[in-house]
Amino acid sequence: MAILNTEWTRGSIAGFDGEERSLFLDAPAPMVCLDETGRILLPNHLATKLLGRTSEFLYGRPFVAVTHQDDRRKLVSHLARVAGGDRGEVELVLQMPHGTEIPVSMISSPVLKNNRFDYSNNILLDVSRYRSVEETLSKAQEHLTHIAHHDALTGLPNRYLFEDRLNQAVLRCRRNGWLGALVFIDIDRFKLYNDMHGHEVGDAVLVEAATRLSLNLREHDTVCRYSGDEFILILEDVTSVADVNKIVEKLQDQFSRPIYGLLDRPLALSASFGATIFDKSTDDTDALVRQADAAMYEAKLKPKSDFELYSPRSEAAASNRRMLVADFETALDQGQFWLAYQPQMDWNTHKLVGAESLIRWDHPKLGLVAPSYFIEIAESTEYSERICKWVIMEACTMLRRFDDEGLNVPRVAVNVSPRDVCGSHLIEFVEEALESSGIAPGRLEVEVTETSMLHHPPTAERVLGELANKGVHLALDDFGTGYSSLRYLRDYPFDRIKIDRSFVAGLITRPENKVFVDAMVSMASSLGIAVVAEGVESREQCQELADAGVDIMQGFYLARPLTPDNFVKFASEASIQHPVQTQAS
Ligand code: C2E
Ligand code: CA
Ligand code: CA
Repeated sequence: MAILNTEWTRGSIAGFDGEERSLFLDAPAPMVCLDETGRILLPNHLATKLLGRTSEFLYGRPFVAVTHQDDRRKLVSHLARVAGGDRGEVELVLQMPHGTEIPVSMISSPVLKNNRFDYSNNILLDVSRYRSVEETLSKAQEHLTHIAHHDALTGLPNRYLFEDRLNQAVLRCRRNGWLGALVFIDIDRFKLYNDMHGHEVGDAVLVEAATRLSLNLREHDTVCRYSGDEFILILEDVTSVADVNKIVEKLQDQFSRPIYGLLDRPLALSASFGATIFDKSTDDTDALVRQADAAMYEAKLKPKSDFELYSPRSEAAASNRRMLVADFETALDQGQFWLAYQPQMDWNTHKLVGAESLIRWDHPKLGLVAPSYFIEIAESTEYSERICKWVIMEACTMLRRFDDEGLNVPRVAVNVSPRDVCGSHLIEFVEEALESSGIAPGRLEVEVTETSMLHHPPTAERVLGELANKGVHLALDDFGTGYSSLRYLRDYPFDRIKIDRSFVAGLITRPENKVFVDAMVSMASSLGIAVVAEGVESREQCQELADAGVDIMQGFYLARPLTPDNFVKFASEASIQHPVQTQAS
């Protein structure tokens, strides 16, 4: 067989004709015959199809012309080896007329004549199908690995990847003598977002929190979603505790901003932070997580703090918390809760005008537990509702007892949680308690905080509206601390506002507080709303408040929260000139 190299005869190879030629042309795989220099002598049918060109076009063209630019060198050296008598295989990408690319495996065998290279036979195996299967598999694998290590909702590393990253961080820290910190973050009252607005909003809050955390970290820090509404940060290479404070402050600032665009109004967001430091002596990473978690709980339990650095004290806070959650049931069943009553006095008439009931827990192991310690914990459990029910029933029953003892206690106030204001159960509990005690609705006062209304204003409006319609008194608690929007006074049926004690405390030292009280009193009186000052601790404060037009006072100066028995004593001798010092807590 002689190839007509000198005088090119299109598509013909000497001696390659007849049956041999038609077998080649109809072969079930794309094949091309190439000459010594790599020019196409003859493509078979499947090859013209694969290459997307006619045989007329292909005859005499260098095969490199249909090969991707990047593969041309590879092809030339492959063909040189084949021309030297070697068989071989090369992976190439074919360049199609319209820009598409097809990966092929080219299997070449030289055809010799008189021991000299005559031409080469090349099979072109389209590997794109295999490749795509392989790629799909490896992508799927990658995806699975990603899923296994990341949280589907926020895309952040999950607990498993976190453990790995923490181990590495601790190792690096040991090697380099750096300090590192682990920061635990828990979104406050997260359950409320889900309960009030549904899981979609809850999810969106988590995504927003994840975004705020990721955008505000340094490049080499890691943020993970630990579980539910808990996130955890690994801060590497910090130089001091002050560094950690600074980073947490920045994050707290981010967290204190409301979320816009989720609902038709801003949604409040806040979180508690707990941190622990690790250094080159650290080897127990589980202990680190426990410490950061404990510090976070300590922060949650402290009314005025949302960040704590771990200390052994935190450990106690966390284990107490676990114990408290486990004990709510027994406490309700065995009557370990009781209500203290703090008198409210009219400064002008010196008369007792009411009492605020404040829950107490006689815990068998911890002793007397204050509500600031357990109410927030209860709020994240199903016990919150049961406690609310018990408080309202107990307060009304006690008022009945005061009546029966011939005391003149015009009204008793109860505190309810934000969750209660946003659920219909509150109305039910109030109705039940009033009915069973026979107390007139106007003698029960329900104290709610501004935050209660922020969570779900439409429900809060409905619930408070219904209570007001029944004649139940409503008080806006802790006024002066939160948003202090006077709008609430206009839009909701409040009978009273309670000026927060932190505000009263600053009354003498901060003149602007005085201006605010003046404004509040005149606004309230124009709306027919009474003002109560709470946390009054001195005669001076009482005088200042009275001058501003506040009549009703509540605070240690007049009386501490009292046990029911002490309250009975107090109420029977009540006189503002003789503040009672008997204590309940
Ligand atoms: P709050 O509603 O603002 O209650 C007033 C708190 O101020 C009470 O703390 C009371 O003991 C304290 N206090 C009163 N006068 C003074 C004073 O002159 N100086 C100072 N420094 N403090 C004063 P307590 O009893 O520890 O209650 C803390 C919070 O726990 C309450 O704040 C309320 O938000 C919540 N809470 C209390 N009882 C209940 C309840 O039955 N249900 C719910 N959901 N929350 C409750
Ligand atoms: Ca209160
Ligand atoms: Ca208050």
